[in-house]
Amino acid sequence: MSPREKRPILEPWPIEALPGEGFRKRQIAHWIYKRGAREFDEMTDLPRALRRELEEAWRVSEFDLVQAFPSADGSVKYLFTLKDGKQTEAVYLPYKDRKTVCLSSQVGCPVGCTFCATGALGFGRNLTPWEILDQLLAIAHHQGLAPTEIRNVVLMGMGEPLLNLEAVSTAVRRMIDKNALGMSPRRITLSTVGIPKGIRRLAEEDLGVKLALSLHAPDDETRRKIIPTAKAYPVEAIMDAVADYFKKTKRRVTFEYVMLKGINDAPWQAREVARLIKGRRIVAHVNLIPFNPWEGAPVEGTPREGIRRFARVLEEEGIPTTVRWSRGVDVGAACGQLALKEVGPLAFHPRR
Ligand code: SAH
Ligand code: SF4
Repeated sequence: MSPREKRPILEPWPIEALPGEGFRKRQIAHWIYKRGAREFDEMTDLPRALRRELEEAWRVSEFDLVQAFPSADGSVKYLFTLKDGKQTEAVYLPYKDRKTVCLSSQVGCPVGCTFCATGALGFGRNLTPWEILDQLLAIAHHQGLAPTEIRNVVLMGMGEPLLNLEAVSTAVRRMIDKNALGMSPRRITLSTVGIPKGIRRLAEEDLGVKLALSLHAPDDETRRKIIPTAKAYPVEAIMDAVADYFKKTKRRVTFEYVMLKGINDAPWQAREVARLIKGRRIVAHVNLIPFNPWEGAPVEGTPREGIRRFARVLEEEGIPTTVRWSRGVDVGAACGQLALKEVGPLAFHPRR
């Protein structure tokens, strides 16, 4: 380990915890959050001696290595090596009108859904708040953007965010705080496999973030076959918690539904999804996700026509539905493909 790596990480939160006088603290926070500085040397309005002092005592970034894998469709998968050697991933998704990042909350995932490559990895550990937030800062830096230019965050990378809620909620508060990134909570979406008490705690946290529920099956029998936690949490209990979240936040809820051939793609299941939503008067939107294949996956995706048929049934039932064709499939960056693989061309990024 080099001496640099032994430096503790500067966690600029709260701003008061930064070194120096009040004015200096605000200057450093501004450099990190608004300008995206990754080294103290970049903070050119700090006296040179102070910069050197800070450089010797602290480091800004969590990561020992950041590797970028650009996809042909413009998205970029990032592989981060953490200071304990563990790895996690995030994805940069540029759209015409906005720039989105998909962040991880854990190394691997303890849930182990059958269709998900992250689940097949097993569980490494929880990420710290700063490790979650730093994925966004590192991506912005690599893309040549100020962190504040990234307007949308989806917590849909590796891991189950509600199983690391404390860290996720601290990271989200940093994103929202005006002295940090100043993001709108409406542009932050947390995706969960469905843990009722976690959903209720999220509502109590009152962060104002959008909720996405990975439903994937409306009936317990099917859901239990593909999602291990479904054995502990029946669909009805999850839906009640989601309805409470909706009542409290008034934010439209997204239901994610990965289309698996012969498992969850029958028309009766689409009607049942509609019943669950309409029965609770949740303003919702269903995202049908074509299955993204990965090596060794024990399930297959529903063919296009089957996906369209399922979508038609939902629409007929009055549920707004979109088919979400994933991006980044060629570099393993798409939903459920995050599995720490180095794929495709590597744009090496030596800066931390
Ligand atoms: N653990 C959380 C968030 C991360 S997974 C959750 O499960 O919601 C993000 C989304 O990708 C989830 O909706 C998940 O079900 C979906 N997903 C997982 N594996 C997939 C795959 N192979 N193809 C398509 N979507 C997948
Ligand atoms: Fe974990 Fe979500 Fe993958 Fe299930 S789908 S294993 S909860 S990351």
